[in-house]
Amino acid sequence: MELWQELLRQSVDSAKDLVDRFGFNKELAERLNSLFHIRINPYYLSLIRYPGDPIWLQCIPDARELEHDGLPEDPLAEDSQSPVPSIVHRYPDRVLFLTTSQCSMYCRFCTRKRKVGDSSKINMKYIQDGIDYIAKHPEVRDVILSGGDPLMLTDYLLERILKGLRSIPHVEIIRLGTKMPCVLPQRITPKLCKMIRKYHPIYVNTHFNHPWECTPEAKRACEMLADAGCPVGNQAVLMKGVNDDPDVMLELMRKLLAMRVRPYYLYQADATKGTNYFRTPVSKGLEIMDKLRGHTSGLAIPYFVIDAPGGGGKIPLLPQYVIGRAGKNIILRNYKYEIFTYPDLEEEPLGHHPPVEKPFKRKNGRSQRKSETEKANLEF
Ligand SMILES: *Cc1c(COP(=O)(O)O)cnc(C)c1O
Ligand code: SF4
Repeated sequence: MELWQELLRQSVDSAKDLVDRFGFNKELAERLNSLFHIRINPYYLSLIRYPGDPIWLQCIPDARELEHDGLPEDPLAEDSQSPVPSIVHRYPDRVLFLTTSQCSMYCRFCTRKRKVGDSSKINMKYIQDGIDYIAKHPEVRDVILSGGDPLMLTDYLLERILKGLRSIPHVEIIRLGTKMPCVLPQRITPKLCKMIRKYHPIYVNTHFNHPWECTPEAKRACEMLADAGCPVGNQAVLMKGVNDDPDVMLELMRKLLAMRVRPYYLYQADATKGTNYFRTPVSKGLEIMDKLRGHTSGLAIPYFVIDAPGGGGKIPLLPQYVIGRAGKNIILRNYKYEIFTYPDLEEEPLGHHPPVEKPFKRKNGRSQRKSETEKANLEF
């Protein structure tokens, strides 16, 4: 058994553990356990510094999960955009491929609580259907392995999936959505990295939410993935009591860059049943973005997005930088709230947009667009 598997076996993972180790009332522990699985592996548990701290909040069950918050179980309408159980196909050219229900830590804020940890809803028997679906859909050029956490699969099973996807000519890129570098960095082994290298281009999106998660172990895991040729990005979720503070977020983003991880998304918390106590007003996210842009490296700035309820996809939000217009001029403010004017051009009147160019055949048969000069010469 590999070290990461041994660590998993030592996880806090039952109502009884909550009673024995954290002094939970037995009835409450059982209700929480039946609603959403508990699993905290010893590595992540060791990051807790005091009860109720940002690490604790993310992994230790909370009575507030049982509140009648009136929120939906599937706010992103993933199930209605799911042509086969393992696929969510929302966007034109890419799909989410759910490969396992298991995670090395069950995050209390998980937006997929209705499925994650439940192997009757996501499991191996749906994998072939997923691969077949992708093979039959030539528009899919980007496949995002998710779950659960695809790195909960053994190297052998993961390789079978990667091999299956790589046998489909129209699959250009594969992404691994995994929390392992953050929650169980021991999972990133030389053997795994060696295997991944064979199936490039593979992009990794990981999930750090707080600077305390940026440990030497996590740094090593991210560096190993980067050395294996995977660009590593981060998706963070904005959460009350965890990272709803511009200084904490700034520190997290800088630490990620130092670990060779590029911040990608900062999500407004989804309005998912049982996670209401993590939500912040949207204005908090905008305030944080305002305090990042300009104040630190542009590389450290993620897109702040709301994943639209009902399955509309990710919608980016920016603080107000455009103050208004004065005639032709556009009035802007910078990160220090200083005002600047940019001399904009008149909008092209309707009907005077350049005509859409049609590709024409070159002698060798490949199509090519006309260059600006050629077009001008032909038309005038
Ligand atoms: C987030 C997501 C994607 C990927 O979106 P990008 O903006 O390309 O990173 C694809 N499909 C689903 C269903 C998603 O939720
Ligand atoms: S690792 Fe991802 S899928 Fe698993 S519980 Fe956490 S947020 Fe949910």
